[in-house]
Amino acid sequence: MCFMETLLLPATSDNILLAAETIKKGGLVAFPTETVYGLGANALDAMAAGRIFEAKQRPATDPLIVHLSGVEQMEQVASQISPLALQLAETFWPGPLTLILPKQPLVPEAVTAGLNTVAVRIPSHPVALALIRAANTPVAAPSANRFGRTSPTTARHVWHDLQGRIEIILDGGPTPVGVESTVLDICASPPCILRPGGVTRERLEAVIGPVTVLASGAALEGSLPSPGLLSKHYAPRAELVLFMGANALQELLSYVKAEQSAGRRIGALVINADADLLEGEGVLVYHLGADVDSAARSIYAGMRWLDSQGVDVIVCRDLGESGLGLAIRDRLRRAASRVITT
Ligand code: AMP
Ligand code: MG
Repeated sequence: MCFMETLLLPATSDNILLAAETIKKGGLVAFPTETVYGLGANALDAMAAGRIFEAKQRPATDPLIVHLSGVEQMEQVASQISPLALQLAETFWPGPLTLILPKQPLVPEAVTAGLNTVAVRIPSHPVALALIRAANTPVAAPSANRFGRTSPTTARHVWHDLQGRIEIILDGGPTPVGVESTVLDICASPPCILRPGGVTRERLEAVIGPVTVLASGAALEGSLPSPGLLSKHYAPRAELVLFMGANALQELLSYVKAEQSAGRRIGALVINADADLLEGEGVLVYHLGADVDSAARSIYAGMRWLDSQGVDVIVCRDLGESGLGLAIRDRLRRAASRVITT
């Protein structure tokens, strides 16, 4: 692919209009959403959508999420909108919930990777909404990182991965949720969470009753219910080791000691409650804050920062499955080279 000049612009109204014109002309624009930065193109233009795959080096088998600025755009991309879809849309949109719906023939195959369904959401970030509204078309947008890497939560992260490959990056500051949207298949009964994310299982169940959760890695084999859900994904360059179970912290500490004696540089992603145990132990500590919400906001930035410091190994422990904990667990499992369960 040819190198182009990438403009990194603050997300002012003028720049949002410029970016919308770029999307209309078939160009690529990275923009903030409430989850992570997205790499957007006109979802109804097969050539433009194809460029997303090229820029990200994403396999054509991994479908994109189509972003809308209002429910009235749903009919442009979805052929059936069930009462359940409408109820979920009314409750959780704009917000980090992606619904899998039967697709309109108008949506190019490139966007849905040949599936007869389409993934749709309305983001709540004001810059995302203003951009999609001004572009006056549904916008296909996966995360704005190179395929397989850690998702970008700042414009700098996008620059690092995609400069020279896309036209514009709109800088709207760090993204407030920090992990991707929840992908919910409502064609399944009961509805199935294909990817845990920004809208928690608890919040979904409070509105629509029991949902199932696709086990991490289950999409690896055979018939893929959600083709992009590869087991190795979201990964830093360093080897990431995830500790799970009742003795996770103890095991993590002994692992650190053993790796240090083997001469390896260790980084750790830790919540405040665990920080004291690792400070002063020769470990590069990245603080994830007090709880799962702050951990979700900072976990990808933490992986990128520890990579930039040249550590050999990144250790972290599971933060449970309540609230955003489930989404964090899913991402850490996929990012991990090893999962040690105690
Ligand atoms: P990203 O936009 O990079 O966060 O990835 C979007 C993810 O949504 C894909 O990797 C798939 O796992 C999922 N997805 C998108 N479209 C569909 C679909 N039609 N059916 C099932 N899963 C989908
Ligand atoms: Mg992604």
